Amino acid sequence: MNVDEQIYPWLAEQWAHLVEQNAKGRLPHALLLSGPAGVGKAAFGAALAHLLLCHQPLEGKPCGRCRSCELIASGHHPDRLFLRPEEPGKPIRVDQVRELTNILHSTAQQGGYRIMIMDPAEAMNVAAANALLKTLEEPGQDTLLILVCHQLGQLMPTIRSRCQRMEFSLPSPDQSRGWLAQQLDLNEDEAEKLLAIAQGAPLGAVSLKQGELLDLRRNFMSGLADVLRDRTDAISLAQKLHKEELIHLLDWWLSLLADLVRLQSGAPNPDLNNVDMTKMLSAVANRADRVRIFTLVDRVQDERKSLMLRHNPNRQLLLEKLLFDWRALIR
Ligand SMILES: [Zn+2]
Repeated sequence: MNVDEQIYPWLAEQWAHLVEQNAKGRLPHALLLSGPAGVGKAAFGAALAHLLLCHQPLEGKPCGRCRSCELIASGHHPDRLFLRPEEPGKPIRVDQVRELTNILHSTAQQGGYRIMIMDPAEAMNVAAANALLKTLEEPGQDTLLILVCHQLGQLMPTIRSRCQRMEFSLPSPDQSRGWLAQQLDLNEDEAEKLLAIAQGAPLGAVSLKQGELLDLRRNFMSGLADVLRDRTDAISLAQKLHKEELIHLLDWWLSLLADLVRLQSGAPNPDLNNVDMTKMLSAVANRADRVRIFTLVDRVQDERKSLMLRHNPNRQLLLEKLLFDWRALIR
C-alpha cells in the first residue's frame, strides 16, 4: 500500500507539539485530528505512527534504517493499521472496526506500539462507532488510535470526548498559493484559481489537478447551468452523473451555494470560490429567494451525510431531487 506520509510545512507547529509530548511520555491513547479536508491530516497521522514505531528515532524523525522503518518502507508494517471505507464516500462498518481492534488488543508484532489510523472517522456508522467506543474506554497498553476527521459535527460526541483533539486549519492563502505553484509548476494566478475551487485546501487542489476531477467538475457545472436554462432536465442530468463520486458533486454544490449567499449579502466584490461560474451565479443570485437557497444548503448537507452512512442509497433519485430544487431556485 502506498501511504502518503508527510508533515506539510504548515503543520510544523502541531508536529513539534506532538514530538515534545511524546518525548515526555505523555501521548494519549487516542488522538483526534480534525479540520477541513485537504490539509494533510492523514499524512500527518501516518508520519506520527512511523515515528512512534521506529526503534531509534533521531531528533523527532524516524531513523530510516531499523527493522520497523524497513517494514514501513516495504509498504506494510503489521503494527501500523489503516482503516478506511472500502470506497470513498461509503461507511466504515462494524466488522471492519472489530477486525482491527482485535489486532490492536493482541501483542504488537514488532514490540512497542500498535497504531490504528482511521480516515475519515465520521464515516463510521452507529454500530461501528459503538464498537470503537469499547476500545476507547479500555485501550490496551501501547496502543494509539488516530482518528482523522473532516466533519467534526458528524462524529459521535462520546467518541469525540474520549480523544485528545488537535485542530488543523487551512494554511494562509499566501502559503498555500506559493506551495501549490511550486508543487504543480503553476504560476501564482493559476494556483490561486485552483485553490479557490478547492476552497483553500492545498491537497484538495493537487488532487483536482492530478485526477480527472476538473473534467467532472466542468461537466457538473455546465449541467447545472443547462438545467437552469431548461436545456436539460433534472432526470437526464441525474442519469448522466449518478455513477460519479457523488461526494465531490455535493461538495462543489455546497461551495456554489455558499457563493450565492455571498453574492446576496450585498458586499461590493465578494470573494467567490467558483470564479469561473460568476455568470451563472450572478443570474441565480438576482432571482433566487434566500430562504430557498438555505433550504437547499440543508438538503445537500443531509444528503451528503446519508450518502456516507446509508448502505445503498438511490443515487439517481438523490441527485434528481436536489436538481429539482436547484431548478426551483429561479422559478
Ligand atoms: Zn527506524
